[in-house]
Formats: sequence, C-alpha cells, structure tokens
Amino acid sequence: MNETIPRYDVLIVGGGVVGTALFYTLSKYTDIKSIGLIEKYSDFGLVNSASYNNSQTLHFGDIETNYSIDKARSVKQMADMVMRYLENAKQADNDLKLFSKYSKMVLAVGASQVQELEKRYPAFSKLFPKLRMIGRDEIGKIEPRVLEGRDPGQEILALATEDGYSVDFKRLCHSFVENALRKNPALDIHLDTKLIKISKNEDHYTVLTDKGEFRSSVVMIAAGGHSLMIAKSLGYGKNLAILSMAGSFYTAPKVLNGKVYTIQVPKLPFAAIHGDPEVHSAQITRFGPTAKPIFQLERHNMSTFPEYWKTFGLGFSPIFSLLKIISDKVLFSYIFINFLYDLPIIGKRLFIREVRKIVPLLKLKELQYAKGIGGTRPQIVNNTTRKLEMGEAKLSGEKIIFNITPSPGASTCLGNAYADTFKIIEFLDNKYKFNKEAFEKDLM
Ligand SMILES: Cc1cc2nc3c(=O)[nH]c(=O)nc-3n(C[C@H](O)[C@H](O)[C@H](O)COP(=O)(O)OP(=O)(O)OC[C@H]3O[C@@H](n4cnc5c(N)ncnc54)[C@H](O)[C@@H]3O)c2cc1C
Repeated sequence: MNETIPRYDVLIVGGGVVGTALFYTLSKYTDIKSIGLIEKYSDFGLVNSASYNNSQTLHFGDIETNYSIDKARSVKQMADMVMRYLENAKQADNDLKLFSKYSKMVLAVGASQVQELEKRYPAFSKLFPKLRMIGRDEIGKIEPRVLEGRDPGQEILALATEDGYSVDFKRLCHSFVENALRKNPALDIHLDTKLIKISKNEDHYTVLTDKGEFRSSVVMIAAGGHSLMIAKSLGYGKNLAILSMAGSFYTAPKVLNGKVYTIQVPKLPFAAIHGDPEVHSAQITRFGPTAKPIFQLERHNMSTFPEYWKTFGLGFSPIFSLLKIISDKVLFSYIFINFLYDLPIIGKRLFIREVRKIVPLLKLKELQYAKGIGGTRPQIVNNTTRKLEMGEAKLSGEKIIFNITPSPGASTCLGNAYADTFKIIEFLDNKYKFNKEAFEKDLM
C-alpha cells in the first residue's frame, strides 16, 4: 500500500451542519481516533447550512402545521438535542452568538383555520406543555402589527410559546468542528477538497478528490443533494430522483417581535410562509421561504446544473414521476405562484398578499426581495411509488451511508448523527465504543 495515501476508519464527505454534527459526535462520544472530513469549499456551512440560505429556525414541530403529531414527536426529540447543545455552548462561551431566542406562534385566520388549530391543540399541548392557545388580545400584546388594521370581525387564534430559537447553522458547524478538535486535535480536515469519484475495494473505499486520494473503511456522505448523485455512482438509490425546491425570502424593517407562522394548506408538504426576526438582528424581519423547482443541486451555482440531471437520471421513469407529482392541481398552482414571487415588480406585489395575512398593514415599500438569499431543498422523488417523499432520506449501503437533507435537516442534525454513530460502530465490527450514556446525558 502507498504510505502517503491518508487512510481512516471513518471519512465524512461534506462540511455542512449534518457532516460536522457527525464529526463532533464521533470525536466527543466514541473512541474512534482516525476520522477525516473533506469539504469542497474553503469553509464549513457555505451551502444550505449558511444562515442566509435557510430560515434559521430550530423546528420542534409545535407551530409547523405541516407536521403530523408523529412527525412532531420525532423532530422534537432531535431538535431538543440541538437546543441542549446550543444552551451548553452559550454557558461555556456567552460571546459565541450561535442563536437568538424569540417568541413564536402559529396564527389561524378565519373560522376554518381557527377550528383546525383548536382541534390540533389537545394533542400538541401534551407534547409541548409550554404551548398556549391565545386569542386576539394576547396576540396583539405579543405582536401588535398582527392586529393593526385587521378586520375586528375576523376570527383569529394562535398557539404560542416563548421558546423560539433562531440559529446560525453555519456558526453551529464551526462550533461542532472546534469542539471535535478540542477533544481530538489529531482529526484530519481537508477544506477545498472535492470528491470526484468513489469506489469500493475489498476492505476500504477509495475516495478520489481534486487534491488526491483518500482511503477509509467507512464513508459517510453528508453532501446535501449531491449525496444522491454519489450514491447512484455506487449503484444505490437508483429508484430515486430529486426535486430541488429553491426558497427565496423577502425582508422588511422590524414588523414582528418574534416568529409568526401561518397555517399550511393541508395538501402541501412545505412550511407555509412565515415571518422571522433575523438571527443576528431583531431589526430585520424575514418573510418566506417560497418554493420553486430549479434544475440545480445548489442554488446560485450553475455548475451544478449537469450534476442535477446526473442525479435525476435519464429515462422516462423520473419524468413520469415528476409529471404525476406536479399534475396535482393544488401543488401545480402552488408551484406556479411561487415562480411568480421571484419575478421583478410583479413578484413583490403578489407576495405581499401572503405577508399581509400576517401583517395586514405592511406597505409595499417596506418589503424588499432578498437578492442572492435562500438555498434549495433536495426533496426526494420516489420513482417506484411516483410520490414526493418528505423529510430527510438516508440510504444505507455496505459500510457507507448517504444523507440527503431537505428541511428540517439542520434541526435534526444531532439526531441524525446519533443514529449514524450506532451504524458506524457496527460497520467497524464493534471494535470501538459509543458512549451513548454521555451523549444522552449531555443532549437528551
Ligand atoms: C430555503 C430553505 C429554508 C430552510 N429552513 C430551515 C430551517 O429553518 N430549519 C432547518 O432545520 N432546516 C432548514 N432548511 C434545511 C437545512 O438548511 C438543511 O437541511 C441543512 O442545512 C442540510 O445540511 P447538510 O449538511 O446536509 O447540507 P449542506 O449544508 O448543503 O452541506 C453539504 C456540504 O457538502 C459539500 N459537498 C457537496 N458535494 C461535495 C463533494 N463532491 N465533495 C466534498 N464536499 C461536497 C457542500 O459543499 C456542502 O458544504 C432549509 C433549507 C432551505 C433551502
């Protein structure tokens, strides 16, 4: 064997919040010493985990009406881990500014939404004991601009809590890496290093990058939408494709004190438009995200156009699936209007109608399209069922795992790392130990 080729027990590909959460978990809570991480850009968290590319929200499932109670239960368990990590990090270093805390609520407008929220409350308040059902007066005290100019005859109701977390997930990546290195300074990180090709050998993978070759017994792919492209190159996930749903945002000067979500149309899998204070500036309110399909794996990066089609796959099957998915009337009109939101002049005039459901008197001149802001969510299309699969997808192969992470992938990053760590120990024939008691004590 060539001695100059780095050889690891575990190599992580991708330095977003998912890859770095795993890097941290392996370093802090296992006795695996030989761990590498490669990231194609010059820093961690520059793609979907960048604070300007996502909604900066730690999703628990309490105010996200597109989550069922079961989904909320599972997301909450994982979001709690991130919340504990953030609170511990704050105690250790108050200047870190990984997150800000704001109030949050989901607002029902009109009789049928009010009824829906009332129906939701009993089960969700058991899971989230701090969630309160509040009426017009209290809504107005927390968020005056939600009431200003609203028809006094309009029925409104909200589920609210004080525990809204806005997170800078890019800074969280850095915190994970710093804490991993603190525990084990010998860990190997290669920035500006892009995986070009991966192949399986008898007892290891060979990872060819633009900076040379790496070998590893186990490989963990945390490369967002690119994870599926890499999986397909090894013969996994052949029946899957990606619908890349870009999300844009509009900003306004502070009109909300906290996060205000709206009720999602039941058939739509994405979070409805919400208003959130920026993680590092309460003086800016951000509205969005929108959702429109693009043919790129990374937003604002045209070089990922051919990579998108490589991931999508040639042939009729993915095209049939896509046509079947978007032929749904509700989804089609939703996607169509979302396309218009990105257009100059008309986009803002259409989008403000959604925003005024939250802030009725918002002026057109207060709203600005946030240029260059917003990433893209790699939603999985299943070519067997011809359905859109929601949430994260994990493909597990021979000593390799591929994580494909649409929203709320940042909120579930530590839960994902926890699950993957068990698999890694198994892949390494139980030669190493996962101190899960310590993980659970610190984070669960
Ligand atoms: C508009 C929008 C709003 C969202 N809002 C929220 C939210 O409020 N809360 C939430 O929890 N989630 C949200 N999400 C989802 C969240 O941003 C993602 O789930 C999360 O950032 C995924 O992290 P990741 O590490 O898997 O991916 P990324 O952060 O995209 O990281 C993947 C990394 O892999 C690297 N990479 C790719 N290919 C290669 C290669 N060949 N070689 C080496 N490196 C490679 C990339 O450079 C990148 O750094 C949102 C997403 C969008 C688009």
